[in-house]
Amino acid sequence: MNRTIPFAAIAAATLALVACNSVKSMLPWSKAPDSSAGITTARIADADKEPGNWLTYGRTYNEQRFSPLTQINDTNAKNLGLAWYLDLDTARGQEATPLVIDGRMYTTTAWSMVKALDAATGNVLWSYDPQVPRDWDVKACCDAVNRGVAAWHDRLYVGTLDARLIALDAATGKVLWSVQTADPTKPYSITGAPRVVKDKILIGNGGAEFGVRGYISAYDAETGKLDWRFYTIPGASGFEQPILKKALETWKGQYAESSGGTVWDAISYDPELNLVYFGAGNGTPWNAEERSPGGGDNLFLASIVAVNADTGDYVWHYQVTPGDEWDYDADQQLTLADLRIDGKVRKVIMQASKNGFFYVLDRETGKLISAKNYATVNWTSGIDMTTGRPIEDPKARYSENKSPWVNLPGPIGAHNWQPMSFDPQTGLVYIPAQDAAFPFIAEAGYKAAPIGFNVGLDMAAGSLPNDPKIKAQAMAGLKGALIAWDPVAQKEAWRVQHPGPWNGGILSTAGNLVAQGNAAGQFAVYRADNGEKLWSTPVQTGVLAAPMTYTAGGEQYIAVLAGWGGAYALAPGELSFKSGHIPNISRVLAFKIGGTASLPPAPVQTMPPLSPPKSTADAKTIAAGKGYFARYCGVCHGDAAVSGGVIPDLRYSGALKSDSWFDIVLNGALKDQGMASFADALNHDQAAAIRAYVIARANESKPAVSPTKKPVSRGKPKKPSKA
Ligand code: CA
Repeated sequence: MNRTIPFAAIAAATLALVACNSVKSMLPWSKAPDSSAGITTARIADADKEPGNWLTYGRTYNEQRFSPLTQINDTNAKNLGLAWYLDLDTARGQEATPLVIDGRMYTTTAWSMVKALDAATGNVLWSYDPQVPRDWDVKACCDAVNRGVAAWHDRLYVGTLDARLIALDAATGKVLWSVQTADPTKPYSITGAPRVVKDKILIGNGGAEFGVRGYISAYDAETGKLDWRFYTIPGASGFEQPILKKALETWKGQYAESSGGTVWDAISYDPELNLVYFGAGNGTPWNAEERSPGGGDNLFLASIVAVNADTGDYVWHYQVTPGDEWDYDADQQLTLADLRIDGKVRKVIMQASKNGFFYVLDRETGKLISAKNYATVNWTSGIDMTTGRPIEDPKARYSENKSPWVNLPGPIGAHNWQPMSFDPQTGLVYIPAQDAAFPFIAEAGYKAAPIGFNVGLDMAAGSLPNDPKIKAQAMAGLKGALIAWDPVAQKEAWRVQHPGPWNGGILSTAGNLVAQGNAAGQFAVYRADNGEKLWSTPVQTGVLAAPMTYTAGGEQYIAVLAGWGGAYALAPGELSFKSGHIPNISRVLAFKIGGTASLPPAPVQTMPPLSPPKSTADAKTIAAGKGYFARYCGVCHGDAAVSGGVIPDLRYSGALKSDSWFDIVLNGALKDQGMASFADALNHDQAAAIRAYVIARANESKPAVSPTKKPVSRGKPKKPSKA
């Protein structure tokens, strides 16, 4: 027995050594990075050394979304096929970019749920549901979406729609800690992906359409303790950062503590400069005269801001749209690159901003290097390179002029959150761009409401009229394109036109490929150098999310989340049909060379005939109902009571015929399905007027959506419980 003990001890020690990855990395023949501690800042900074993984939202800290993988390339992309797909348990917009770490895929879905999958097969390893109260949706502008997780050591982090930040065990999905990142009594939400910088989890929030004060926070990754926080607008009680005192000088009138500037998407990091960059959103209300009567730039609304990664201290800012009143959030992706400009290599930060301009800034100083419009704009004739400010058309200031103005880009922007990609091989930035104008009409006697959008616009006056000619005109003006943009020359290299706006984010790869899904339900791969289409496949639903790529079992995959939804699928009503009647079929799809899986047949569902009760209300009641609908209901149920298909179309509601309407609108009868009670804002008569308006609209729409016409694909019949 004595002699067996040393052998057992040796065997145990050997097993421990084999199990320990750090030993593997010390072996001279191993080039694999040290993965013993899981994901670290150093590992993310060195992401190019492990191209088979995708370690952070934008793949690398510079958020280029360019993969060095070449197994799938411009010569064999024509042989791409579906490797696997996974149907998701939600039917809302899917915006996430999955991470892949050592053969495991981690993604979020709508309602901030998290899934771990086997990246080679799509088999679910675990699922986590943070149980977001479904009626929180009324506090989020643009669907119950989520854009992804962050990874650090052996943990994952997700921000939830109700503004919690949650740490999960990556192996099991077990909750390690959960913190409330915002005052739960205020309409804050989180849809963006957290980022990890030096053992800190960075996360912002949304809510600038409702009235909150924007900020970005850094939490201790281990404990969840708040480390630093940078507010984007001055507060009512003192200045958390000295710079906010200066910022206050750019505001006028009675300054509100809840005027927006939310950090709801872009966060990037330069490890060398130790700077964190983020975008700040629009103001509340959008209407600038209401927000800051008499003008003012209103810092740091609509700005790109750089802060010290360790302290959150202000370093520089560039305000993209001073005194914004067109919902020009500057939250779009911030991509870092080193570009040769006028013979010198410059460290730049780039944004295809919502306001239609492509900005190249020096990321050490924030100084503007160049700016050029990449989409159609009418609010300005260009950017003054001396001041860095837009040269505005004075007519665009609708609130000051008290005169309506149809602005281009509209509130969905020339580019929104959909990720762009920079390919250092071609030197091109690939932008999911669009043209979608919007009528801005200041609301007379605007008052903030306790629930719903507080933007200071007369949404009813801007509602699409039931006039076929005007509808056709508005429809014709909607455009979407994949634009390849040369950031040095500031000019377009090539473009692929899509049927309409609100298309998917973009991936580029060293295989000379660009991949993108679109709003018309196609997923395609193009040559990165000239835009030639190499392959495409129907995916049965609109794609908003960006594709990503990874290897599993030695094979390269391109994966993407599909599932129509988000801002543009809700608010624009009939105009959201520009790319067709797109159903939401929420899925993860993974493609590889020679993939042979196939999707089930696309479900086809004919809309039932409209059978509203007779419209008996007087014109005054219907007009009042139109106003309340536009103010409180339209952003989700669709302009002019025509739903884009993700949220129930009220013209078909059985509640039009019964008093259950009031139970739903005022008593929250369907709150667990996402319909909040509006009792704080509406009384019984007002709710009745809204019903009268919807009944009138349903009667008006009857001939246009007659079931004798060609059936439209509406996707799976949507049970409210699967919202
Ligand atoms: Ca906004």
